[in-house]
Amino acid sequence: MSSIPKTQKAYILTQGVEKLSLEDRPVPELKPGEVLLRVRASGLCHSDLHILDGSISLSSLCSLPASPILGHEIAGEIVAHGPNVDPDLFPTNQLYSVFGPNPCGLCSECRYGRDNLCLSPTRLIHGLGHPGGFEQYTAVNIRNLVKVPEGISPEVAAVTSDAVLTPYHALKKVYLTGLSRVLIIGLGGIGINAVQIAKAFGAHVTAFDLKESSRELARKFSADVVLDSLTVKEASHDYDVVVDVVGIQSSFEIALKQVKTYGSIVLIGLGSPVLNFFTTPLCLKETHILGTFWGTSQEQIEVFDLVKKGKIKPQVEVGKFEDLNEFFQKLKHGQIKSRVVITQTD
Ligand code: NAD
Ligand code: ZN
Ligand code: ZN
Repeated sequence: MSSIPKTQKAYILTQGVEKLSLEDRPVPELKPGEVLLRVRASGLCHSDLHILDGSISLSSLCSLPASPILGHEIAGEIVAHGPNVDPDLFPTNQLYSVFGPNPCGLCSECRYGRDNLCLSPTRLIHGLGHPGGFEQYTAVNIRNLVKVPEGISPEVAAVTSDAVLTPYHALKKVYLTGLSRVLIIGLGGIGINAVQIAKAFGAHVTAFDLKESSRELARKFSADVVLDSLTVKEASHDYDVVVDVVGIQSSFEIALKQVKTYGSIVLIGLGSPVLNFFTTPLCLKETHILGTFWGTSQEQIEVFDLVKKGKIKPQVEVGKFEDLNEFFQKLKHGQIKSRVVITQTD
């Protein structure tokens, strides 16, 4: 194991500034129950862009002061064990992914198994309040370590912890059979995995994106129908489930028009802070609107099993830690077709 430096490089968020600044920061000191991860890979999520452009504030996600270090899709190796951590149970020669929601384990939602929805006022989400993966070394409580099965790369492990987990959790909320018709709106980092998961659950999948490179991927992953345009006027009222991975007024209106009577709209996208809808058609159709947030720690283990078995093949575009800001610009301008992951080597 290489020696651990006292300081490290970390990307720092300044409110109102879209570019993260690369600065020297202390390597975190470990509290009881924590390990130090050498970060190997961190995914770039569109939620980070919402933070960078100010449309979502970190303070809305936590009640304690938030760390300015983003990055909530993290994979790495342990380089130090804190007090009360048994190194035999958490070996160093193993790749780990981080369960980002960082739940308390004690509140009613945690005890119910919905630990993504932890109610603790002191919990801080990794990369969205707690220091995240856009640093070289990060402290993680052992309860948030998920062992990555052999054969899965750090890049794929990082995205599996959100870009796969989120659509998996979302699609488990609805009852899918071989007869189910699913429409997925937005085929980026999250949506392209939603296509694969809905197919793995046996559904008929229609995939829609404005971007050809993402539509091409959806075809590759056997979406039954791939659309380059879909307007509110082209209402089919045909889908049991519409997954809106964009979450803006126009995508939500399409979802409302396309969904069947008694069907479900699963809202993943956070593109707009407010969405409007007419109440009468919603009630007459008894449409279910389901909000969804990330996934549970148990589901994180389940998605790794699916990736290991090849049922889901997360797509990644790999970049260097030094080029993080450039990749955020590309993501912002629709120049990324799947998910960017920045990697770090020694
Ligand atoms: P992304 O940028 O990788 O993908 C978004 C895709 O939507 C792109 O392919 C883009 O071309 C497409 N798109 C944009 N506008 C469209 C439109 N009007 N119609 C059709 N397609 C359109 O983003 P991502 O990382 O996949 O995240 C998607 C959204 O999900 C973001 O708002 C993000 O904040 C949110 N998110 C929510 C959760 C959750 O737990 N609810 C978790 C992760 C991400
Ligand atoms: Zn995310
Ligand atoms: Zn809790």
